[in-house]
Amino acid sequence: MSGATSGLATTCDTAEKVNSNVVNKAIKSRRLPIVPDVDNRRFCRVCQDMLPVELFPAGTRRYVCRRHLWERVQLPSKMRMLTDPRKKLLWQIWKRCWVDAKIIFGQPRISLLQKDIERSLAKKLPDALEELPAELNSLSLMPADPSIKLSCKNMVLVPPTLRKTLLKARRDGGQALYLETLASWRDAAK
Ligand SMILES: [Zn+2]
Repeated sequence: MSGATSGLATTCDTAEKVNSNVVNKAIKSRRLPIVPDVDNRRFCRVCQDMLPVELFPAGTRRYVCRRHLWERVQLPSKMRMLTDPRKKLLWQIWKRCWVDAKIIFGQPRISLLQKDIERSLAKKLPDALEELPAELNSLSLMPADPSIKLSCKNMVLVPPTLRKTLLKARRDGGQALYLETLASWRDAAK
């Protein structure tokens, strides 16, 4: 069913990029018969077994369970991504932002994509898959206003030492001290 395959691409970016043979064969092939759910159980074509529906990804109906989708599609995609220094860097910066948001700022998510980070670093990133300048690895993106989610409009690019200082300020003195510390860095940088 073409509707199902385009749904797959939009609901899972990683899966879309990988275009894995397994998923192609398992999900897209018209030759495979549709197996109906029975008693809230669905057939996983990799497990070759009926599993509880909640073990499948939400959204578009797929015939590969979550564990197998991860093992066969998302994990290989991530491994490939980590061999590209540029993508690896973007992922590392994004992950750091996400961890800070969760642990320090008490926000479950950030409104910033790796694409946004790439855009904000565009001038510093070489095009080719060359060695990246070492200092890029330590750049951090911090929220300008720590009370709202990190986003394109709410971010400041800071050196790593300042990130540590800001995190400490937020922990010890709350938002007021965080904002104060950020403002004095900006003044000094002028
Ligand atoms: Zn499975």
